[in-house]
Amino acid sequence: MLEVQGLTRHFGGIKALDGVDFHLGRGELVGIIGPNGSGKSTLFNVITGIYVPDRGAVTLEKGEITGLPPDEISRRGIARTFQNIRLFRELTVVDNVRIAHHPHVRYGPIAALLRTGAFYREERRTREQAEEFLSIFSLQDRGKELAKNLPYGDQRKLEVARALASRPKILLLDEPAAGMNPSEVGTLMEFILGIRERFSLTILLIEHQMRLVMGICERLIVMDFGQVIARGLPAAIRRDPKVIEAYLGKRDDVTARGKQA
Ligand code: ADP
Ligand code: MG
Repeated sequence: MLEVQGLTRHFGGIKALDGVDFHLGRGELVGIIGPNGSGKSTLFNVITGIYVPDRGAVTLEKGEITGLPPDEISRRGIARTFQNIRLFRELTVVDNVRIAHHPHVRYGPIAALLRTGAFYREERRTREQAEEFLSIFSLQDRGKELAKNLPYGDQRKLEVARALASRPKILLLDEPAAGMNPSEVGTLMEFILGIRERFSLTILLIEHQMRLVMGICERLIVMDFGQVIARGLPAAIRRDPKVIEAYLGKRDDVTARGKQA
């Protein structure tokens, strides 16, 4: 589904990505973990076209997408959330989701201008679909509120709902549970498993705390200093001396929680 080969990107003297290779099979849920500053978010930024890599290639379903602009990559089926929440804070919850839905509207500019029947039908359809996405995350009763007024945990869920509304094949989640309390984290992880089933998604999930992804990911990729230092089944990763060293070396408890990157 997705293949990343030799991806390298530096910022000044820092090699944020240094020859990263991995692949993602259709329907997989794979976790990317690693200490702060190990290059996880940069990896997403390069895959989604925010940064162009110095070297390497990203291939989506056998078509190369390296260096394409973000909106083109999104059209081809990759959606993401950001480590720092990016919502339209002054828009309503439902409008945040409807905007993401826009690439799929079926009326043309003339219909929009003349406010034809097709326009109204389509607007109703996108609203109904947006409400459906909200209900998946139990946000259906908050549709009319401004995004900025949602509690923090709900803003995180709204970000995922919005990413989903663009109907991606691959969903990239950058620390979706950051700053959530333990019960919110539990529900979020269940939502993530649920949407994978329902929309046949392939998911790449960045998480700073290893413990959170252990339970739901089939495979883990561990990064440190821009490189993949380990990959495999969660149980094996947890015992891998290189992984323990990477976390402990940065005074970062592998099983710690509550710390936001
Ligand atoms: P992670 O998500 O694993 O915490 P990042 O990918 O955010 O790590 O960062 C990896 C390294 O690249 C860090 O040293 C960070 O400071 C640097 N970096 C990331 N983005 C930029 C940027 N736009 N400009 C300069 N340095 C950056
Ligand atoms: Mg990050």
